[in-house]
Order: sequence, then structure tokens, then C-alpha cells
Amino acid sequence: MEENKQTLLEEVLQLSSRLREYQKAYYVDNHPLVSDLEYDRFFDRLSNLEKEYPEFRFPDSPTQRVGSDLSSDFPEVVHSIPVLSLDKAYSNEAVLSWVAKSQQKMRQGLSYVIEEKIDGISMVLYYEKGLLVKAVTRGNGTVGNDVTANVKTIASIPLRLPHPDTLAVRGEVYLQKADFLKLNKSMEIPYANPRNLAAGTIRRIKSSEVAKVPLQMFVYEGFWEEGLPLDDHVMILSKLKEYGFRINPTIGLFCKTKEEAQKRLKEASLEGFGGSFSDIPSYIQARTDGRNALLYEIDGLVAKVNELAIREQFGYTSHHPRWAIAYKFESPQATTVVQKIDIQV
Ligand code: NAD
Repeated sequence: MEENKQTLLEEVLQLSSRLREYQKAYYVDNHPLVSDLEYDRFFDRLSNLEKEYPEFRFPDSPTQRVGSDLSSDFPEVVHSIPVLSLDKAYSNEAVLSWVAKSQQKMRQGLSYVIEEKIDGISMVLYYEKGLLVKAVTRGNGTVGNDVTANVKTIASIPLRLPHPDTLAVRGEVYLQKADFLKLNKSMEIPYANPRNLAAGTIRRIKSSEVAKVPLQMFVYEGFWEEGLPLDDHVMILSKLKEYGFRINPTIGLFCKTKEEAQKRLKEASLEGFGGSFSDIPSYIQARTDGRNALLYEIDGLVAKVNELAIREQFGYTSHHPRWAIAYKFESPQATTVVQKIDIQV
């Protein structure tokens, strides 16, 4: 192998091992070694190298799988739905370009939902015949940890649904900023942010300790075992709300016309903003500007195709669904050029 390529291969291996170490500190120990921005820089550097040199893309690369939060402290459960991460964009323009490309690909009228990207811990609630039977962390996307007793301490999560449905509900467990500031003062080793404190809490062994922390949950996806006649994301959210779950009310729905979007939100009995496609840039800007005033932390927005049948046509990679994209507020490219890491061989 020529010398330059050998050096790049060594960088790929070094980046992969460094990212794995950071993932463990973040997902399992809940005390990250580096900031999210720094992590994203290393991750992007690795992704770019792998794009340029596909022969250096190994099946166990951190870019090819969901960052795992599996811990040996809790039993493992195999997920019955794909519990993936999200593809990322770092600008308003990149989201608009994704919307335009997805429209071209389908050649038919799609609509889009834009939601806040809650900075918490991904959780799946499994209901059988209307009863909450398991709450499972994202884990590695295929297998997660059973943290049911701890999640049951979150008062807003329904333990029994009004109908005997069997379904999986995905959402984010989080801690409000004010609660974090209050609680973190009494921590022996303080946490860097509400997300890490919430993640550490959900993995406590004693549920009585978890119950002392005012965790909350917003849900954003529902998968019924026997499909209800629900065609789109907005109707799923509507049903979840009717069943007693907390839905983030700050969603935006974007259709060909503003009137259509507002009509569909009204039919779903949902609050939120209804607009036409041309309203998307100003909506993203307004939500970005308003993020600091929220009671909880968000690290971006998520744009999703609204129509469920079309989502299936887009499909999934091993890391993310192709029908959604996360707009992350902090761009790894924004401040400095990615630093090449030192290689010790
Ligand atoms: P991510 O957190 O950037 O995005 C995916 C997750 O967003 C989903 O799994 C879901 O749980 C969540 N989400 C929140 N609101 C949502 C909504 N409305 N709809 C759908 N999903 C929603 O990706 P990730 O794979 O979980 O983590 C990667 C990120 O974690 C990195 O980009 C970095 O910011 C951070 N990280 C940091 C370190 C570190 O050392 N600082 C290490 C690992 C990861």
C-alpha cells in the first residue's frame, strides 16, 4: 500500500477506536470525555474518509451502527421494531435540499412534519393488550436494556391504555433544565447536562431513587401490531395523544398549501403550526431562535416524511431511516476545520 494510504488507514483505525471509547463514556457511563461537537467532528472525519476510501469502511465501524448504550446491569430485550439513530444535516439549506430531493424521488405530493429533537434518552414502551409490559432503552438498535421498573416511576406514562391494543411507542425521556440545575448541585460527580443526568438516573439500580428525579417523556412514534387504519404520522400522534401520552405540541406540518396543513392538523385535533412548503425555512429559523426559551433542551429539529406508506418505500440503512433527517444546531464544521488526530502506532 502506498505510504499516504497506509497513513489514512491508520487514521481510520485510530478514529474508530477513539469513537468507541467516547461512545462508552457517553452512552454507558453518562460522563462524556469530550463535547458533542468534538465527538461529531471525529465522527464526520471518519465518515468522510470512509466515503472517499470505501475499502476502509469496516462492518464494525462506529459509522455503520447505532451508538450502543447497552449495560450489563439490566436484562437485555430484543426490539420488535427498528430503533435507529437519525441522519444529520447542519443547516437550514441542507434540510431544504433533503426535502426537495425526497419530493423528486417520489414524484408525488408528500407532506412533512418538523419536530423538536429532544436531547434525552431514547426509550421504547411496549404495550400488550393495553398494558405497559416493558420499557426498553435503544441499546444497539436491535437489543436494548429492560428498565421497566424505573420508567414506571414517570407519572405521565400510561400504565394501561383506554383500548386493549398491542403496540410499541418510541419517545425521549428527559429532564427539564430547572430540575437539572437543582439536582446537579447535590451530585457527588456533577453531570455535564440534563441529558446525562437523565441517562444516569434511568440506569439506577433502585427505582426508589429514580422516583425522586422528575423525569418526563415526550413520545413521537407508535407502531401498532395490528395496523390501525392510520395513514400518516400526524394521525399516529393524534392517537397517541388520545391514549394519554405526552405529545410535544410544537410540531409543524407542511403540505402543498397552508390550508391543507391546517385542515389536517385540525382533523387530528393537534396543536402546532400548519404551513406550505415555502414556510419551512422561516419555521426552522423561528424554532432555532426560540430554543433557549424552552423548559427543556433540544439539540436540533427532526424533519420527517408524514405519509407512512411512502416511509416504507424510502426504507432504512443500518443506522437511520431514509425518511427523516435531523437538523443539528451545532455544526462540527462551523468553527474549525476538522483536526487530524495524532496517530500512535
Ligand atoms: P442523535 O442523538 O443525534 O439523534 C438520534 C436520536 O434522536 C434518536 O435515536 C432519538 O432518540 C432522538 N430524538 C429526539 N427527538 C426526536 C424526534 N422528535 N424524533 C425522532 N428522534 C428523536 O444520534 P445518536 O446516534 O443518538 O447520538 C449521536 C450523537 O450523540 C452525536 O451526534 C453526539 O452529539 C452525541 N454523542 C456524544 C458523545 C460524546 O462523547 N460527547 C458520544 C456519543 C454520542
